[in-house]
Amino acid sequence: MPGPLLQPKPVQPFSYRKTAPIRLSDKHGREIHYLRISLTDTCNLRCVYCMPEHMKFRPRQELMSTAEYARLLRLFHALGFDKFRFTGGEPTLHPDLIELVRLTSDLPGNPLTALTTNGVLLPKLAKPLRDAGLRRVNISLDTLDPERFKQLTRRQGLEAVLRGLNAAEDAGLEIKLNAVAVRNFNEEDFVPLARFTLEHDWQVRFLEMMPFGNNADFQNGQRVEEQGVMGRLTRAFGPLEPVGNGLDGEAKVFRIPGAKGTVGFISPVSDPFCGDCNRARLTADGKLRLCLLKDDEVDLLTPLRAGADNRALEKSVREGIWEKPWGHDLAYQRFTQNRGMSEIGG
Ligand code: SAM
Ligand code: SF4
Repeated sequence: MPGPLLQPKPVQPFSYRKTAPIRLSDKHGREIHYLRISLTDTCNLRCVYCMPEHMKFRPRQELMSTAEYARLLRLFHALGFDKFRFTGGEPTLHPDLIELVRLTSDLPGNPLTALTTNGVLLPKLAKPLRDAGLRRVNISLDTLDPERFKQLTRRQGLEAVLRGLNAAEDAGLEIKLNAVAVRNFNEEDFVPLARFTLEHDWQVRFLEMMPFGNNADFQNGQRVEEQGVMGRLTRAFGPLEPVGNGLDGEAKVFRIPGAKGTVGFISPVSDPFCGDCNRARLTADGKLRLCLLKDDEVDLLTPLRAGADNRALEKSVREGIWEKPWGHDLAYQRFTQNRGMSEIGG
């Protein structure tokens, strides 16, 4: 019995265009065609840099249903979005993740569909997700030490994440590994994590910690900037070689001489990449979030539930994207206040 998303769809005016739709631009001239979709604000871990131990989650009725996701995803695709990433919270906790991955990857033009996950549930899910059309997975892993894993995530689970990595590799997914660099927590892990690239064609990326709302003192105080991570890697492996033009999306990419994979640096604080931003976010409560680090949002779920047609929703998306802020103001110590990372969709 096919799930609700696979049953015949009502004809929507924008979903069956024969030619590729023109991408939306913002008023700064950037084409915005990459959507990060948060499937939930809940999680099976409690990473210290992401959420408090006793995080209050949104009630179920405030979150989008699978049918509401399906409607908005088709609408974004019709507006020229051709890359979709499911995230959260922890997206593997969503019961219809596989079906939603199938929906986006089967849309006309077969958009690139990716996932960001903590990896705990990947041992079971990697193969069905690949079969549903998932191409890329970013697995978050900050340490290879079980005790430090517990300190960073406030939970157990390292062994499951490592099995998840293997399952993703066996399933043939393109793998990136995300490690947030946190002073006094995982500096000893930078070199062992980078060492994965010697044997695996993965990209191991080191993320600078960003400030959100009321966790900013920790996030600003414990940040290790790119130079700090690079220094440790260079002392261990010698100078890293830039790869290609040196960029892969927002990451600056290098290779340890002779390695199969690459090492990336995502440095939104010390080296912002707002000028090249091509993305928007859809929160689990149905807000179009225009910049990760700014409060600006457009409510799509309230009008959708009130019966708005696709033309009206499309107009809201167009107008929101046009007003996308130029970039963040971290240099002036200004950052978003209305949500934490897990409530936005990283
Ligand atoms: N739960 C999934 C995971 O951990 O991969 C997806 C959501 S998580 C919010 C997405 C990414 O954001 C993860 O790689 C996580 O490490 C990263 N992250 C969380 N809080 C952050 C912060 N304050 N600064 C930088 N990256 C952060
Ligand atoms: Fe959960 Fe991901 Fe946040 Fe960690 S970073 S608490 S795994 S949402």
